[in-house]
Amino acid sequence: MKELKALFAKNQDWVASKLGVDTEYFMRMAQAQDPLYLWIGCADSRVPANEIVGLEPGELFVHRNVANLFPHTDFNCLSVLEYAIDLLKIKHVIVCGHYGCGGVQAAMEDHQLGLVDNWLRNIRDVYAKHKEELDAISDKKARHNRLVELNVLQQVLNVCHTTIAQGAWHRSQPLCVHGWVYDMETGKLKDMDCCLSSIDQVEKIYRIRNSK
Ligand SMILES: [Zn+2]
Repeated sequence: MKELKALFAKNQDWVASKLGVDTEYFMRMAQAQDPLYLWIGCADSRVPANEIVGLEPGELFVHRNVANLFPHTDFNCLSVLEYAIDLLKIKHVIVCGHYGCGGVQAAMEDHQLGLVDNWLRNIRDVYAKHKEELDAISDKKARHNRLVELNVLQQVLNVCHTTIAQGAWHRSQPLCVHGWVYDMETGKLKDMDCCLSSIDQVEKIYRIRNSK
């Protein structure tokens, strides 16, 4: 007997609704994907990437982890980015954080949670980098919100510091890296206005010369 029957029933309904509109839907979807965007977002169940931006399956390549991090040593992140840029030729990378992020909140506290504390160290580094600004915000929620934003900005830079993003720019492949924040209380996205689209926008120490 199948577990989680309700989910299989929902799946059947979904298949029927798609086929009701387009009988070739799944056959066509199975052929190939051609997304324009890579979404790097939080694993939080309240931040459903496709739904937020109204995109259909096949239109958004998605990578999600706790607190939408892009550590430069993480092979999962790097592999996703390489596949998205080098093979799928996506034109936009969107790092999207969200207010009320449990990962960011945990990084602001001193409770030990387990393995994830090592992952969230990346956010503590962001806090340390902007300590003066953050410590000056007395309201707890406002301080959390600002750290969410600063974390997004840092992860945007982390993407831009990779040989993968810089490789695209070196070969004149169009690529924009954006930083956004999702507000769960309103459903709205905030653009952090930090779109990077060329190696000239990368701090010099992080630039890697094209040797190919
Ligand atoms: Zn989160």
